[in-house]
Amino acid sequence: MRVTAEDLEFGYRRGRRVLDGLSWTVEPGVTGLLGPNGSGKTTLLSLLVTLLPVRSGRLLVGDHDLATASGRAGARRALGFVPQRFSLAGELTVADTVAYAAWAHGLGRRECGAAALRALDLVDLTDLAHHRTRTLSGGQRQRVGIAAALAHDPGVLVLDEPTAGLDPGQRLRIREVVARLGRDRTVLVSTHLIEDVAHLCSRVGVLAGGRIEFHGTFPQLEAMIEDGSEGSPHGSGFERAYDRLITRIGERA
Ligand code: ADP
Repeated sequence: MRVTAEDLEFGYRRGRRVLDGLSWTVEPGVTGLLGPNGSGKTTLLSLLVTLLPVRSGRLLVGDHDLATASGRAGARRALGFVPQRFSLAGELTVADTVAYAAWAHGLGRRECGAAALRALDLVDLTDLAHHRTRTLSGGQRQRVGIAAALAHDPGVLVLDEPTAGLDPGQRLRIREVVARLGRDRTVLVSTHLIEDVAHLCSRVGVLAGGRIEFHGTFPQLEAMIEDGSEGSPHGSGFERAYDRLITRIGERA
């Protein structure tokens, strides 16, 4: 399932325009959404998951047009979302937490237990199904969040900064899980961690100045920005290319 944005514009009340004619197609697989702090990544994700209204331009999840009520309802069935911060009820077990998410997404009461076990298997948490969520580590909590977002088996999974605050080992586990989920889903991962994108995503979109300024693979980004001698030696080719792109956009503004 694809996500398509056409000429999308969005501004908060009394604020400047955050998205300014953004067009982008996100294909199946894992795509990274990169951009400087404040560039509008969370705003774009909020529009996509129907937390903010689409007022100008088009945004589609598959064939579901978010400008219409029926389109938004269809998109909610097709989407799973893990926000940057979420809370878990500490007394609930991992399995009950995910079963509840399945129920909240409209699954029948009898289907929820099996749906939860399926989702927990996808994030390697089957062994902890009967533990209370208050006993979990940060990385395990994050995987419960992903399982909850997967409980209704959506074709599109949206993750906002999924590795923020995790230690290196936990970050690796999350990357493994997300990479696996991308084999048969469209996964969009917003992050400011270039290493996450480089290790996880087959494609990247760079949001700056209200638009997607680059979309493609890492070799394409590196090739687009030729790597001269003035770049910082303290980074990978991809990091230097990204830094140059952002600097160029800043100089143009
Ligand atoms: P990012 O996720 O890339 O850091 P955001 O989408 O959070 O960017 O923010 C983009 C811009 O919109 C910033 O200038 C931010 O201050 C502004 N903004 C974000 N949320 C709100 C809000 N609820 N009301 C007004 N302005 C906001």
